[in-house]
Amino acid sequence: MIIVCSSCGAKNRVPEEKLSTHPSCGKCHQPLLPQQPIELNEQNFSNFISNTDLPVLIDLWAEWCGPCKMMAPHFAQVATQNPYVIFAKIDTEANPRLSAAFNVRSIPTLVLMNKTTEIARMSGALRAPELQQWLEQHLK
Ligand SMILES: [Zn+2]
Repeated sequence: MIIVCSSCGAKNRVPEEKLSTHPSCGKCHQPLLPQQPIELNEQNFSNFISNTDLPVLIDLWAEWCGPCKMMAPHFAQVATQNPYVIFAKIDTEANPRLSAAFNVRSIPTLVLMNKTTEIARMSGALRAPELQQWLEQHLK
């Protein structure tokens, strides 16, 4: 499968059986599955989402949003529990066009994507156990 490096944008081909061995980018050597949320923005989003063969869970947030900050450690914790889902954050203030493309009405909004297809969406802050449950429900 292909995983795009969130650091440099290089497309990396990773055999499925190698996913568990902490693969790193062939170009910049950063981890491809860092077990912590990555940053997506208007520059890297399109390449990343269209070319990565793993589900991507996006947290659309903003600096001024209290519930977003409340959820951040829960989101990071659930990221460590799901090594084959890529957890990504999009700062809606810094990326207004992406925010508009997602038609974000309130934040935090979580969007689960498989390539460019939206699988599920949820608005409002969740704690780790609820977030894990919601994710499992939609990954089936
Ligand atoms: Zn790289």
